[in-house]
Amino acid sequence: MISRAVELIKKSTEPVVFTGAGMSRESGMRTFRGEDGLWNEYSPEQLSSISGLRADPEIVWNWYKMRLMAGEGVVPHAGYRALTYLQRKKGKLPVITQNVDGLHRLAGQTDVLEIHGSMRTASCLNKCGYATELAIDALKNIPPLCPDCGAILRPDIVLFGEPLPHEIISRSYRLAEECDLMVVIGTSVQVWPAAGIPFAALDRGAVIIEINPVQTELPHSDNVISIRRKAGEVLPLLVGLKEKI
Ligand code: NAD
Ligand code: ZN
Repeated sequence: MISRAVELIKKSTEPVVFTGAGMSRESGMRTFRGEDGLWNEYSPEQLSSISGLRADPEIVWNWYKMRLMAGEGVVPHAGYRALTYLQRKKGKLPVITQNVDGLHRLAGQTDVLEIHGSMRTASCLNKCGYATELAIDALKNIPPLCPDCGAILRPDIVLFGEPLPHEIISRSYRLAEECDLMVVIGTSVQVWPAAGIPFAALDRGAVIIEINPVQTELPHSDNVISIRRKAGEVLPLLVGLKEKI
């Protein structure tokens, strides 16, 4: 199975990568669903919605501060480095990610489509135009306020009930429809509309290489090669950076 995947990656002329929270697990970021998932402890509706942010900005911002602190010092693992290597080798390799942790960029990748936004910046909830880098020291006072108009700041991630960034999502679907290979890593393929992206690729005849230790919503099919292993272990192998695990 691995050797078939290696061949497919080598031959592919229009490859695309699609990642989810599991891609960052080995860097120390927790996933939302599954064993050890954050949503087992916290309610998404309260902590990740505009109404929750307006109703209780203190609780919501303390949660983001906790997530930011959890991400401090986190570095991209060997699987990230393997993708960076592959992107440089191929010359063109768009990376569509559901992650908000910024690790693809930190690993030196370009053409990263963050369809759920980024936790690394924040902006004014009143949309006055103020935006800032989001670092722990910017969160001495909770909730952080806009220095220009006094409104609460919001993290620049897509919250529940908000539409996905239109340009990014439409380019992602276009890439899915035009690719010949999609490498799908560390996603439960449960969060819509993002989950539609690998299905769009499959519908147009692309092959999928899936890397996930557990089974997901992707179908059993000749066009889906499922490698049930961890991203950091298997990606260096798939791109030819490592001989064996
Ligand atoms: P998910 O939590 O629903 O699923 C994670 C998947 O990763 C699971 O199927 C799990 O089996 C798999 N996984 C765990 N460890 C892995 C490993 N080492 N290698 C490969 N796969 C592994 O994640 P999702 O599908 O991305 O959906 C969750 C939503 O939550 C996303 O929209 C994302 O925006 C957000 N989120 C982001 C982060 C982050 O930025 N790091 C973390 C948690 C959640
Ligand atoms: Zn403002």
